[in-house]
Amino acid sequence: MRVIRSVALIDRAGSFDVALEGERVHAISAAVDAAPPRWLAMPSLVNLHAHANRAYAAPAQRPHSLGDAVASAKRERASATAEDIRARASRLLHRSIAHGVSSVRTHTDIDAITGMRAIEGVLTAAAELRSSLDIEIVAFASAAADPSQPETQALFAEAVGLGASLIGAVPALCARPVVALEALLDTALALGVSLDVHLDEHLETPNALIHWLADATVARGLEGRVTVSHACVLSAMPRDDVRRVLDRMAAARIALVVLPELNLYLQARGDGAPRARGLAPVVEALQAGVAVRFGTDNVRDWFFPFGDGDMLETGFVGAMAAHVDAAEELGSLICGGRRRIEVGDVADLLLIPASSFDDALARRPGGRVLLRRGRVVDAAAGASAAISG
Ligand SMILES: [Zn+2]
Repeated sequence: MRVIRSVALIDRAGSFDVALEGERVHAISAAVDAAPPRWLAMPSLVNLHAHANRAYAAPAQRPHSLGDAVASAKRERASATAEDIRARASRLLHRSIAHGVSSVRTHTDIDAITGMRAIEGVLTAAAELRSSLDIEIVAFASAAADPSQPETQALFAEAVGLGASLIGAVPALCARPVVALEALLDTALALGVSLDVHLDEHLETPNALIHWLADATVARGLEGRVTVSHACVLSAMPRDDVRRVLDRMAAARIALVVLPELNLYLQARGDGAPRARGLAPVVEALQAGVAVRFGTDNVRDWFFPFGDGDMLETGFVGAMAAHVDAAEELGSLICGGRRRIEVGDVADLLLIPASSFDDALARRPGGRVLLRRGRVVDAAAGASAAISG
């Protein structure tokens, strides 16, 4: 039995000892030592939307718009080797571990130019870190690939054969968005995988497709296997319309991934100071029963010049941008739906040198310690002092 002594928790005030037995949390009790907590213990962080194969590729880029970023990424795609991609992904995954992230879903480019190079590069990086981090790969038909074309469907099948567990695309960039979305759903059904689609990453309500997707998901029996990333358009709809769409998403068990940094940075850009935030309504979606998660999205590439894969930072930005005030709610958005540490949990935990969750969000300090199945993954100096036994 090992005990993490005198820690703060997200869901209650005070100082606690967390006992671990093997891979699991065995007990949580009032701290034996009455001193104030020096560490916050929380569920490990989960990043539900990254682009590891592009990370750090264009740190000085300042896109003028989302369309400008798409064009830059397309131009640069031909030159990246599998080794370039492995190095980029490896850097992002190592930084993720340092921040306390235990799981990353990464949208990985497939198209006629890239072929399987990005999938292979990310798989190699992931294999090196298998014991520390879980990776989910989305075979991502980016701007250069339309899911309704047979050659893209062949790429999806090849990527799933190599290890991708989801498929995705950007229907708005295809000639016929509804046809592209239909093809994506049918391909997911045929391949027996889930899908995560970049949908409605704009503020033009007549072009919204999310309500169509909810109906199409139910019609195919794909409930619980569809994730929508972005859905910025919801922030531009009248509230009654939003409520109806969210109810349909909940009925279709469509998960929603919100990307606070990217949406704030790229939406409503180019027309003076932004008046719109461009974030899907997180609090209303949670109230409607939609499973909502946050992701970092792009890190220092053609789409976004900042970030480092730190989901605590994403939580901090999201708390401000989406007005998520409840600590446990915010925790669930950045910890894969886990709101608190509970007895019996697999001990995938994060220790942060902070006196509370709010202190951790305010300072986002380094020196964090990630535990996977009760084992310290990345020990910072002094971390061992927090764990005894
Ligand atoms: Zn994305």
